Amino acid sequence: MADDVRVNILGISQDGGFPQAGCNAKCCEIVKDVPALRKHPVSLGITGTDGSRHLIEVTRDLAWQLNLWNNVDFSEGKALSSAFITHAHLGHIDGLGLFGKEVMNVKRLNLNCSKILEKLIFNTPRWNLLVKSGNITVNPFQNNVAFFPSKNCGFKIKPIKIPHRAELSDMHAFLIQGPKKNLLFLPDHDSWDETLTHVKKNTIREWFKSEKIDIALIDGTFWSSTELVGRDISKIPHPTVVESLELLGHKNESSFDLKFIHLNHTNPLLDDKSVELKKVNTMGWDIAKEGESFII
Ligand SMILES: [Zn+2]
Ligand SMILES: [Zn+2]
Ligand SMILES: [Zn+2]
Repeated sequence: MADDVRVNILGISQDGGFPQAGCNAKCCEIVKDVPALRKHPVSLGITGTDGSRHLIEVTRDLAWQLNLWNNVDFSEGKALSSAFITHAHLGHIDGLGLFGKEVMNVKRLNLNCSKILEKLIFNTPRWNLLVKSGNITVNPFQNNVAFFPSKNCGFKIKPIKIPHRAELSDMHAFLIQGPKKNLLFLPDHDSWDETLTHVKKNTIREWFKSEKIDIALIDGTFWSSTELVGRDISKIPHPTVVESLELLGHKNESSFDLKFIHLNHTNPLLDDKSVELKKVNTMGWDIAKEGESFII
């Protein structure tokens, strides 16, 4: 609808997707015969008040995700106005090549990312070719400076730098500021301790209140620290959902809405009959669903 800003959920899974390559365990067994249960790497599609379209994260499942976006929020085939990338880990950026000659051949798409990620794009021949061929124009943003992604889109995006293992680039969460609501997109971070210290706040609620957050989509990669068999979880740090629930407590009347995203294939929250999901729901929170949308 005109005059609304809509945020559509185009993916809720961790970088590897669901099922994950090489996983022959029980977690991915159920998806093999039921393709409808598949999940795609985290991504959002934002439709501005003028119908302009803005993509958050550029994943390899872009074809499926753009189709989903058209199904839930048809916009007469409008081309993308801009794209945003949080950081350089695989599932957040691996669809970038789809903008090039071999596939979409887009024209000067505004790609918004940090200065460090811009440098990585220029230094990666495959991605630099997109710049040279005029497929993308990279616009580096500044930490904590909100801006309109296009002239009449009706919403701003404020990048917020977040501590997250930075082998390739730094990481920014995005605060999407609509005319009615603010939505936080925080798919990855190392720990609540480091994140809260970095934004100079003591608690999650204090932080969310200071940014006037109405809807929070946050890192729910792992349910608990015992989940990954045969991998050292300290090398892939994320606050577990169990920890986040402890810090959050129950939802109360004045509270924001909160949904977990970026779920690893091993996360029991992917099973809608699990006791874990029941616990999350009982506390007043939820996981995001692909195809769901919010008016902000
Ligand atoms: Zn990730
Ligand atoms: Zn699996
Ligand atoms: Zn990451």
